[in-house]
Amino acid sequence: MKTTTRVAVIGGGVVGCSVLYHLTKLGWADVMLIERSELTSGSTWHAAGGFHTLNGDTNMAALQGYTIKLYKELEELTGMSCGLHHVGGVTLADNQERFDMLLAERAKHRYMGLETEIVDPEEIKKIAPVTNTDGILGALYDPLDGHLDPSGTTHAYAKAARMGGATIETHTKVIETNQRSDGSWDVVTDKGTIHAEHIVNAGGLWAREVGAMAGVYLPLHPMEHQYIVTDDIPDIYEMGSEHPHVMDPAGESYLRQEGRGLCIGFYEQPCRPWAVDGTPWDFGHELLPDDYDKIEDSIAFAYKRFPVLETAGIKSVIHGPFTFAPDGNPLVGPVPGLRNYWSACGVMAGFSQGGGVGLMLAQWMIEGETERDTFAMDVARFGQGVITPGYTLPKVIENYQKRFSVAYPNEELPAARPFRTTPMYDIFSDMGAVWGQQYGLEVANYFARAEGEPSYETPSFRRSDAFNATAREVTAVRNAVGINEVHNFGKYLITGPNAREWLDRVMAGRIPKQGRLSLTPMLSPKGRLIGDFTVSCLGEEEFQLTASYGSQAFHTRWFEQNMVDGVALENISDKRNGFQIAGPNAREVLAACTRTDISDMRFMDVRKICVGMTDCIVQRVSYTGDLGFEIYCDPMAQRQLWWTLWNEGQTHGMQPFGMRAMMSLRLDKFFGSWLSEFSPDYTAAETGMDRFISFKKNTDFIGRAAAEAERETPPARQLCAFEVNADDADVVGYEPIWIDGTVQGFCTSGGYSHFAGKSIAQALIPRALAHEGLAVEIEILGAMRKATLITEPLFDADGARMRGA
Ligand SMILES: Cc1cc2nc3c(=O)[nH]c(=O)nc-3n(C[C@H](O)[C@H](O)[C@H](O)COP(=O)(O)OP(=O)(O)OC[C@H]3O[C@@H](n4cnc5c(N)ncnc54)[C@H](O)[C@@H]3O)c2cc1C
Repeated sequence: MKTTTRVAVIGGGVVGCSVLYHLTKLGWADVMLIERSELTSGSTWHAAGGFHTLNGDTNMAALQGYTIKLYKELEELTGMSCGLHHVGGVTLADNQERFDMLLAERAKHRYMGLETEIVDPEEIKKIAPVTNTDGILGALYDPLDGHLDPSGTTHAYAKAARMGGATIETHTKVIETNQRSDGSWDVVTDKGTIHAEHIVNAGGLWAREVGAMAGVYLPLHPMEHQYIVTDDIPDIYEMGSEHPHVMDPAGESYLRQEGRGLCIGFYEQPCRPWAVDGTPWDFGHELLPDDYDKIEDSIAFAYKRFPVLETAGIKSVIHGPFTFAPDGNPLVGPVPGLRNYWSACGVMAGFSQGGGVGLMLAQWMIEGETERDTFAMDVARFGQGVITPGYTLPKVIENYQKRFSVAYPNEELPAARPFRTTPMYDIFSDMGAVWGQQYGLEVANYFARAEGEPSYETPSFRRSDAFNATAREVTAVRNAVGINEVHNFGKYLITGPNAREWLDRVMAGRIPKQGRLSLTPMLSPKGRLIGDFTVSCLGEEEFQLTASYGSQAFHTRWFEQNMVDGVALENISDKRNGFQIAGPNAREVLAACTRTDISDMRFMDVRKICVGMTDCIVQRVSYTGDLGFEIYCDPMAQRQLWWTLWNEGQTHGMQPFGMRAMMSLRLDKFFGSWLSEFSPDYTAAETGMDRFISFKKNTDFIGRAAAEAERETPPARQLCAFEVNADDADVVGYEPIWIDGTVQGFCTSGGYSHFAGKSIAQALIPRALAHEGLAVEIEILGAMRKATLITEPLFDADGARMRGA
């Protein structure tokens, strides 16, 4: 056995083998995989082998498309068979909401180049004759759906990796992983120790245990899952061609042909987590006992949808465990807080996603960044030290149960909540707050305070029943003053003699003088947007940064990777809370709450001010685009600050407002939002963030060369705003933009401007076409909506209110 290697991949399931192959494909040959038993000895061997592109996250869907297209390449490369059956598949919709979801997916697929189509019940009958289409409105047909041989495919990845120089040690169990002071690892196995520069945890069912060897908790959990293979069915084997896949969300089932019969699996509601306290090391090539009770209702439903099943005998039952993360997407990337330790686990659909996971991880390790935004599968998206096994378990159960449910853009899932709350939780609840959740934190979406406003927002693809409450809150901000919390900003304190110099290198924008703020993009070396920050200079050696709350671990990881001596970084996201007040009366409210004269406080000023009894950091800036202040304080004093501002606010028309109103208000100014307009998928010049880059500063900031190249040769696409002739549904994101009959762009986000009474979209379109008045069509839920490019903000176009004295 080799005793040194550049990368030690732990786990020889489909994911570990894909990672190993992709590392060799991208040029690293000195890599090895360590498997405690034979390859495929975890979840992989008993998988049903189905694959499909459908995924609520667009980047995940694209990576699933990559995975599926890779199999042919793998077969050609290795001469091995993956047992591919590209039979296509339909996903059924039995109600309008499900159909809306399919229409939205279809629209997204257009600019992704995926050839899906919407089919009606008659066509479904022709494509998938075993389906009883009673009550079915339509379906999404995907020609890429299919299935394969799980073992053959895993071995094909392994062979391709070996051909690229990788070695594979089977029957070798990793028992310890110990980090050396230089950041490399001793991987201790039952056959000896391997010194590795990097570790990849692809431990699948045992990923939790493998992670614990390095002292890290990975938020995933195994669930039991069962599918049934029938005896031969004449209707099937006499068809002449292979029956395609049928996904029936109403019945929470997936069905396909297996041999001369059918195979059907279920995501049943009475589901069961497996190995709650840890996966036994002696669990091997074995199945769990058959459990018909658990899937009794699902089978009864399936008999109605697929009547041929009723008379078919059962040949075999496959019941085994596989792992899920709290949101069902994989856990991939550098594990926050550890050097040279990478995660490739929590992959619940290894045959749809394994190729994409392997490619992204290999790019990340070898090239330093991935070619597209991977946040939806980034292991950092659950934070560092925030998520616990107690949180993961109910979330994973919820995810399993909702696997086939409609995923609405405004939906707030209920499991494991409330988890993290601020001192305002009870006060806001008493005021009618309707809560959402970000990164485990409760965030008020809106306040049901007026007659008829619902205390629960019904999930919908169309304008929701929170519409009127949101409108009322927007009006309060624009006409008087609104207040909400600033708890859902990620916040960092940067101190030390080299703080300014370091910020100048890490941030592309100008670092402000003492007492001032600046807005700045943070770029990757390739010039992609990896953050949009507000930097506040509180002292020559003291800076506060604010950005997206959900990206805390993502940003902290980046800061730590680029840290230098003489700089101290502290994540203070939950240590500094407070409020923002915004609207024409905001200044009067603040002035009345402090003895400090704030009349000379300019836009983008920051000051330390005592407000009521509380020392605060006050900055004059607001994402609402209005006159506004962000007021940060110690959470211990937050309630005192609240009562000071709220009591004073009563004489100024103050109303609380939530995230729904905030997202409407920012549209009035065409402000982008993180992971919609601003994400690693886009560059600064594409999104207009280049106006915040300081090309004048004498620093080789990260991403400078790429940003300068874009200045020389502007990118092909540009972010623009559109006024949409919408009906009862606004743009959410990723809807295609049609220009002269072809898809030439896509929406990044949108919504309803309650201030202007207009439906607004933001979209990336070809730069050459981006001029005022351009007429386009946007496909929203299957309907073509006329839209016009606009350049003048809907509110405060000259900035007089936001910036004015
Ligand atoms: C019944 C069922 C049906 C399924 N159907 C499908 C489907 O149709 N389509 C689909 O895409 N997915 C399906 N899946 C899910 C699929 O099986 C998983 O997504 C996939 O197998 C995960 O692969 P993995 O490599 O991450 O993990 P695993 O397959 O669990 O592999 C992990 C490997 O790591 C090894 N290992 C762990 N710890 C150590 C250690 N300390 N030292 C050395 N080696 C170690 C294990 O022995 C194991 O071989 C199904 C799962 C089940 C249970």
